[in-house]
Amino acid sequence: MSDSNLFRLLPKVDELLRTESIATLESRFPRSLLRYGVQEAIETLRDSLRSGKIQEEKLRKITQGQEMAARVIAVLEKREGQRMQKAVNATGVVLHTGLGRAPLAPAAAAAATNSAGYCLLEIDCESGERGQRDRTIEKSLQLLFGCEAAAAVNNNAAATLLAVNSFAKGKEVLVSRGELVEIGGSYRMPEVMKAGSAKLVEVGTTNRTRLEDYQNAITKKTGLILKVHSSNFRIEGFTESTKLEELAALARERGIPIVHDLGSGLCVESKIPGLEEEPRVLQSLRAGVDLVTFSGDKLLGGPQAGLLLGKKEAIAKIRKNPLFRALRLGKQSIAALEATLQIYLRGEEEALREIPSLRMLRASKEELAVKAQSLAQGIRSLGIAELSISLESSTSQAGSGSAPAVELPTQVVALSHSKLSATKLAAKLRAANPPVFSRIENDRVLLDARTLLDGDESAIVGALSSLLQKT
Ligand SMILES: *Cc1c(COP(=O)(O)O)cnc(C)c1O
Repeated sequence: MSDSNLFRLLPKVDELLRTESIATLESRFPRSLLRYGVQEAIETLRDSLRSGKIQEEKLRKITQGQEMAARVIAVLEKREGQRMQKAVNATGVVLHTGLGRAPLAPAAAAAATNSAGYCLLEIDCESGERGQRDRTIEKSLQLLFGCEAAAAVNNNAAATLLAVNSFAKGKEVLVSRGELVEIGGSYRMPEVMKAGSAKLVEVGTTNRTRLEDYQNAITKKTGLILKVHSSNFRIEGFTESTKLEELAALARERGIPIVHDLGSGLCVESKIPGLEEEPRVLQSLRAGVDLVTFSGDKLLGGPQAGLLLGKKEAIAKIRKNPLFRALRLGKQSIAALEATLQIYLRGEEEALREIPSLRMLRASKEELAVKAQSLAQGIRSLGIAELSISLESSTSQAGSGSAPAVELPTQVVALSHSKLSATKLAAKLRAANPPVFSRIENDRVLLDARTLLDGDESAIVGALSSLLQKT
């Protein structure tokens, strides 16, 4: 058969949907999905034909037997595996953006669930009138930080965009050259300025920016001074950055608003090992800036959100911006954020105990050793001969740009398999239900005790047991 005729052997979508082996799958998958699975399976075959990967005989075999049904199931199972679902974070990166950053405190998760139906999102219970959706969040932030006013939006990127657009639309924004961060994706300061209809004016040099540099850059067109915490990188060596207090004083003197984008926003005063250098929200507010912005799902340990705290007039301006409406939080995030702040209101001790990410960051060596030992024990009890298991010291990270240079001492379970490379073993762990994410070092899979939540140990043991028996 000529090559072009081979394509005629490809089954038609509707014909395949009628064959018994595929029609019976309707009990498992909705018809629209089944059609998609069939289309994808046929397309894959077409690609293989095109690239010469399969010949006539093989093609006939695939299309005439049960194999097509198996291929359709594989397509649909892959899709299922990509849905939002629980995962195990054994990477040791506490605020892992790919894995959802801060795990919510149980009370915050419960509050989010509780608001799923009708709820008091934007209504005043007493009067029955429309109200402000982040009213309780604002009140809590005022009580926690003594700020005049506060607001919450979708994330910190939204908060900075709002600040830039509200204060410097059509004007210039001064940013130190040492602070022109790229957070990820297309979130780079020059792009944020463009999106906020403002013009970026770079001040100073990459490693040194002095107060005079800001003084000299101020013109009639200056709308805002933006200080950005260099979250995900560190410049070391001969460096100088302007003190926030001095910069705030300069801004006040010249009548220019100043905003501090903190990024991570550490909200506790207690020492957290490795995070000594991380700027604190309170400290930044006390320096006299108009607004401080930070993320809800970084060191605060709550849901995705962007928090703006500061002066009354500054927040009023933010709220009046039409972008504020476009960037607002949904009800479940509001509920989770309220509940998270409620934990902080009960005191710092409570926050350190109840906020999972803070607990992980503060976990002691002994605590981590006990967890790692228990995990190793569980894995050993599977009795997989090919697996060598050892307990080792290693380092974990805060993640999401918090304390980038800091390595937190931790305990890991190191695995190597006599027949599988570390890459393959890690892939098998990710293919489990729930998927387990680890890190690879020296061709071994490391499971970090620091980022494990309740129940994760048995999930990891389960992942290894079901996978390794088949190899
Ligand atoms: C993380 C970060 C952001 C972005 O915050 P999101 O909440 O992820 O939108 C902005 N600025 C700084 C300095 C950050 O560290």
